[in-house]
Amino acid sequence: MKSYLIAAALLASAVPALAQQSIATLPPAVVTDPRIAALRDNALENDHYAWDIVEGLTTEVGQRLAATDAEARARDWAVRRLKAMGFANVRAEPFEMPVWTRGAESAEIVSPFPQRLVVAALGYSASTGPAGITGQIAYFDSVDALRAAPDSAVKGKIVFIDHHMMPSQDGSGYGQFGAPRRQGPTIASLKGAIGIVIRSIGTDHHRNPHTGVQYFTDGATPIPAGALTVPDAEQLVRILKRGQPVTMHLTLVSQRSEGARSGNVIAEVPGRDPNAPILLVGGHLDSWDQGTGAIDDGTGIAIVTAAAKHIMDAGRPERTIRIVWFGAEEPGGLGGKAYGEKYGKQPYAIAGESDFGADRVWRFSSQLSKTDPAAYAQLTAALAPLGITRNDKGEADGTDIEPTVKAGAPWVSLNQDGTRYFDYHHTPDDTLDKIDPAQLRQNVAAWTAMLAVLSGGIEPGPKQLKRR
Ligand SMILES: [Zn+2]
Repeated sequence: MKSYLIAAALLASAVPALAQQSIATLPPAVVTDPRIAALRDNALENDHYAWDIVEGLTTEVGQRLAATDAEARARDWAVRRLKAMGFANVRAEPFEMPVWTRGAESAEIVSPFPQRLVVAALGYSASTGPAGITGQIAYFDSVDALRAAPDSAVKGKIVFIDHHMMPSQDGSGYGQFGAPRRQGPTIASLKGAIGIVIRSIGTDHHRNPHTGVQYFTDGATPIPAGALTVPDAEQLVRILKRGQPVTMHLTLVSQRSEGARSGNVIAEVPGRDPNAPILLVGGHLDSWDQGTGAIDDGTGIAIVTAAAKHIMDAGRPERTIRIVWFGAEEPGGLGGKAYGEKYGKQPYAIAGESDFGADRVWRFSSQLSKTDPAAYAQLTAALAPLGITRNDKGEADGTDIEPTVKAGAPWVSLNQDGTRYFDYHHTPDDTLDKIDPAQLRQNVAAWTAMLAVLSGGIEPGPKQLKRR
């Protein structure tokens, strides 16, 4: 330190006034603590915890539709696994909700060109019953086109809404182009439609329909609502373009009942200071029912849990790390709401969620850019060697942590590359083989670095000191 001061003094006396001024206004150098860099680099090279979790969960439980017995089995699996990994305060916290499950589903063009199309019901779709419904197709290029149409164009018909979503790295198309799924069924019902099919909210050209949640709002009567695969939607558009009336027979059988149960699973790495604000990380345990919920969101819970485990392996952080495997995210973030009601007002150092697949983290943003610029600079430096760019204009990410963030928790978003995410999202194709192990490890390295930077310092425990 002393020699540095002497060197600085020599430098100051040697350079002209203008240059001195520019040196003084340069931001201070931010160098990552070598112990944090070592933790990060070890996760990047050697992590197996994340793969083990997602491989185990998707193999031994498989799909985990919210509020079903499968999700309950997943909670039991989670408690066992988190305890076996050595986490503390492992518990499931149940809550009540309705359960919706799908049955038989099919779509056929009756005329003019009889043929089968591939369809899946959207969450909370009404049931057609096993006999199905038959109606003429009323085509709309967008939700706004449907909204602008007179009721007479829709009444007694099956609405079909198209859209033009394309792949993008930040997944930004999902918000805008997801409108046919989120709003289409309600608008179609209010205008007197007997059913609705949409082009899947997806970017692939496989015959895999993309399901997803929707709600009937504004007093709309629930109607059958399904998603055609992208190739089938394009086929239907071509048929419609021939100019003749198109009739579809649609069968979407489903069941809904009240008073079912979901739950959150919570585990902790206890901090040395029990009163210090908590580091909250999570993902969601439930999945849609067609695939095995590998990238949505088996990898999310696997990534954040693996990162917390790497911190625990290194010793005791000053701040407690709390891991939450949220239940029932897909039907509307119910686990996040239950958590927020119970714990939202606790003091948090940060809240972050991983729920966008398993491809590499390419960008990050955090509220710390405004509230704690020094910590933000440390994060920037620790994540840069992983090729992660800071985004000063980013936003909080993650349905499950949203209620807690709204209650005041500062947030961090580690944005994954979403270019291929919507090829698989909510389809039968969301399976383990879609995960690139190297990119999964990069995710774990990023979350490990984030937790280490914000941990308040990690002190080796007695176990760690003994171990060689
Ligand atoms: Zn998800």
